[in-house]
Amino acid sequence: MVASRSARERKAAVEAGPLATVKIDLDDQKQFLYKIGCSVCRAKGHRKWSAYRPGGDNGYMAAMDRWIFHLVEKHPGADAPCLAYVDAARQRLHQRREHVVQSGRAPTPFTADEIRAGCPAGRTIRMRVDTEGEAPFLRVSRFVSCDEEGAVLERSRQSLEGVALGVVEADRVTWRDLQAHASFPVEAATIEDETISTAIGDLDCLRYTVRDKETEEVFWFAKGLPGMPIRYVTRAGGEVVATVSVVDNTMQADDPGPFFHGTKAELQPGDVLEPGYASNFGSGTTANFIYLTATLDAATWGAELAAGEAPGRIYRVEPTGPFENDPNLTDKKFPGNPTRSYRTRGPLRVVAEVQGWEPHPAEALQTMRDHLEELKGRGVEAIND
Ligand SMILES: [Zn+2]
Repeated sequence: MVASRSARERKAAVEAGPLATVKIDLDDQKQFLYKIGCSVCRAKGHRKWSAYRPGGDNGYMAAMDRWIFHLVEKHPGADAPCLAYVDAARQRLHQRREHVVQSGRAPTPFTADEIRAGCPAGRTIRMRVDTEGEAPFLRVSRFVSCDEEGAVLERSRQSLEGVALGVVEADRVTWRDLQAHASFPVEAATIEDETISTAIGDLDCLRYTVRDKETEEVFWFAKGLPGMPIRYVTRAGGEVVATVSVVDNTMQADDPGPFFHGTKAELQPGDVLEPGYASNFGSGTTANFIYLTATLDAATWGAELAAGEAPGRIYRVEPTGPFENDPNLTDKKFPGNPTRSYRTRGPLRVVAEVQGWEPHPAEALQTMRDHLEELKGRGVEAIND
């Protein structure tokens, strides 16, 4: 239910406190326009200090945030109910700044940090490109050599059947560059929420409509997949001239192995591990994934911390399907995935048992157990989806 303009005005006036004057107008598009003014302060030209923000609830928040900063800065002794939200307002301001690359530009769908976290080495996106007067093809983009600042982005073409066409081009890009690709002039861009059906499922998106004279481009950025848009459509003079849509997106990690799996189970070469056997950590809920690592140290922890009293064992294993960075161990204490820890929906084939591995010192093991116990106590569960 949308509250009436006068009810909104009253609510905002109460929140803003006695120093404020609050008015809601309608703009040319019949959208609410929030105006919060200060009954004491004068701006340039002897007019009352005031801030205007368009939009429904967003406009209210934006105007109120601006007012909160005015109160804190100019009237340190003043009291108003809205001051209870000063921390939240600061957080939103920070968020907005991170999303705005340059003044006069609309906020980008993702910050550079969000893109870095969402594009691990090995992430591969295939998009179908339909351009007027050209045979459709797949554009493949793959992230490799990711670090704090950026990555190498490999781009190539495939036929619709997945056959490589031409060469792979590789360019170094920064996360900041990728963020800036989605930075458009405020007056040219309209940003809305939309859920769309795609080849990889229904995705909750931010839709950016960008107009430039005769051309209109619409980009859909999936909120859960920071990085490039998962669909875009270009219109010229009202006619669709190009459509680009996601075909698949894999987070497959870029690691040649060899791979290990630590456990307390006794296994034979040729055995296969499938998701569904109890998780090593947390409350023991059924795992949706099987974990593997390319470091003996991480496998050692797996063997030592697995549930049960049997001695720990480490096996050389081979993934039989795609695997991805383990989100429980990626971008945590250190950026990236230094422990080369992965997960797969399986199965994982046992190649051989690793003999003679070095256990962690008893003291280190106890520290790790205490840490996991503490996480459990705080209700922190392993990411399992
Ligand atoms: Zn004032």
